[in-house]
Amino acid sequence: MIEKLIHEECGVFGIFGARKASELTYLGLYALQHRGQEGAGIVSSNGERFYQHKALGEVNEVFSNKDTLNQLKGDLAIGHNRYSTTGISSSINVQPLSIAYKKGNLALAHNGNLTNSYSLRIYMERTGSIFQTSSDSEIILHLVARSRKETVEEMIQDAISKVKGAFSLVFNTGDSLVAARDPYGFRPLALGKLNNAWVVASETCAFDIIGAKYERDIEPGEVVVINHKGIKSSSPFKPVKHAFCIFEFIYFARPDSMIYGENVDKIRRRLGRQLAKEKPAPADIVISVPDSSNTATLGYCEESRIKYEVGLIRNHYIGRTFIEPEQTIRDLDARIKFNPVRGVLKDQRVAIVDDSIVRGTTSKKLIKMLRNAGAKEVHFRVSSPPIISPCFYGIDMPTKEELIASSKSVEEIREYLDVDSLGYLSIPGMLSMHSLGGRNFCVACFSGKYPTKLEENSGKHVLERKCCGQM
Ligand code: AMP
Repeated sequence: MIEKLIHEECGVFGIFGARKASELTYLGLYALQHRGQEGAGIVSSNGERFYQHKALGEVNEVFSNKDTLNQLKGDLAIGHNRYSTTGISSSINVQPLSIAYKKGNLALAHNGNLTNSYSLRIYMERTGSIFQTSSDSEIILHLVARSRKETVEEMIQDAISKVKGAFSLVFNTGDSLVAARDPYGFRPLALGKLNNAWVVASETCAFDIIGAKYERDIEPGEVVVINHKGIKSSSPFKPVKHAFCIFEFIYFARPDSMIYGENVDKIRRRLGRQLAKEKPAPADIVISVPDSSNTATLGYCEESRIKYEVGLIRNHYIGRTFIEPEQTIRDLDARIKFNPVRGVLKDQRVAIVDDSIVRGTTSKKLIKMLRNAGAKEVHFRVSSPPIISPCFYGIDMPTKEELIASSKSVEEIREYLDVDSLGYLSIPGMLSMHSLGGRNFCVACFSGKYPTKLEENSGKHVLERKCCGQM
């Protein structure tokens, strides 16, 4: 057994009561592609049996054949996009995960990371469970299968009462769509309506693409069961202080989505405005690192009244390239993704806004590009505070040692990046926004203070089974 760290930032989707549910799920997954590019899958059911297709790749690659979708019959379907990570990239980990157990079939799509998966898994393996994947999500299915409760809904509730950490879940039980969110509400999960059908998704951009209407969020700690009898909600958890992930607003969610009941564009723009108030820059132009920092950069420009320019072009058509030229090209990874616009940058004092600095490696390469393109000065502005601690709740972040701000001061990072000035948003500034009022956020990656107790082995997963071939 080998310990490995895997990451689980993902997008989930579920629909009940719609003709061609799998086609609508496919479209929903398309809209949620930004939440995971490693693999995608759909499990549908027509009341009699389950149909599933999943594979490594982006949604359009996994479902490139129309017949595949046609074969996923039924008016109930769930889908999942798995995040591309540096960890285990294996088709067996692609979700939804499904099992056959004493009640029939059950499929699950999970967004988030469990923090007690290590100990649960060791206990379950010792007591006879045989795991097929290295994903923490499988633990939930085993717990459901082991539960002694009567109904599937009760078994699901029983299972999720034993796991800790972050989970936004959708289950396909064969006749019901079940959605559940952990009591802290770490990851988003929204409920929508499409005519008579109910829809659940990580972000509301998945509703827009199919013409569904956003009804409300699945509340932290809420379990919703949707079937032919209608929709039933329960709150089986003891209420706790919420811990919505602020990084969803900073980087992860799409600006056109509503999460935690707020429009992402609005919040992200305000982060940029606040950054301009706190860290003005002596610049002629402001540029963004497309696409994730575009909205915050607009906010920065609105507040600073410095002109917005498009100084970096992002290549959107990268796909998967494994070409390694015989002659080594320096910084090829960054060059494949970004190219500077020389006519915009030459002889200018440039303020560049990015949403976050993680390792600092991309930023360093980008800054070198700007300088080579003739920028006179480069002022780096970051629309989030320094990231000093890893995330155990589902954002793919490197270990503490790899996070540049965990060991370097802002001045040391400025020197490393080779910029004329560097300014981060403050934690109070980030949380000061009026529209966030009343909500409590998880800011552990910036503060190092985690809202839940962590196990010694949180974030670790047990096992690598060589015999599975693809791991
Ligand atoms: P780095 O070179 O590691 O500092 O990467 C910083 C860039 O990564 C920023 O432009 C962010 O938009 C982006 N970023 C932040 N968080 C993540 C994440 N969890 N996964 C992938 N990219 C991220």
